[in-house]
Amino acid sequence: MAVIQVHDKFFDVFIDKETLEHRIAYLAAEINADYSDRQPLLIAVLNGSFLFVAELMKSLKIPCEITFIRVSSYQGTGTSGVVKQVLGLNEDIRDRDVIIIEDIVDTGHTMAELLGQLTARKPRSVEIATMLHKPEATRIPVNLKYVGFAIENRFVLGYGLDYDGLGRNLPCIYQLVE
Ligand code: 5GP
Ligand code: MG
Ligand code: MG
Repeated sequence: MAVIQVHDKFFDVFIDKETLEHRIAYLAAEINADYSDRQPLLIAVLNGSFLFVAELMKSLKIPCEITFIRVSSYQGTGTSGVVKQVLGLNEDIRDRDVIIIEDIVDTGHTMAELLGQLTARKPRSVEIATMLHKPEATRIPVNLKYVGFAIENRFVLGYGLDYDGLGRNLPCIYQLVE
């Protein structure tokens, strides 16, 4: 398999484009069935989810809306250390059926924090769709309704995911060569 270099590290193909997009279409079919009588609001977490959500949305047949947010990390002054702040959510999500769209769930900290902040705004329902999940890395368990692929605990990039800014344009998922 062709090895590529990004910055100082080497990666090889882990999930090819066809496999990835076939699976994403399958997730969309599940969402079409589950939300056949609802009009969900997709909330995509930038930057990493932009290709995943674009591919997913092309296969959604139900009426749906989309908006984009960012979750920024900063060092808090309290004992908890890193604090996550949600930026850019201007929509009123009260009584909406929300589906959070994420690139990858690693420790679960980001999703746990986001779920807490969104739930406080009283949506009717909130579910999570993530392209990738690293089950072995879990620190905070969160319910992931739609998972593209459960993967081992190794750094990946491509299809929206970056390594220090690069690699988001790669059309498949690459894994760090160790
Ligand atoms: P968390 O640990 O809060 O579940 O994951 C936070 C974020 O870390 C993810 O949304 C993603 O942006 C980043 N991340 C986690 N694992 C990886 C990985 O293997 N590759 C890349 N590129 N980003 C990752
Ligand atoms: Mg992310
Ligand atoms: Mg990143």
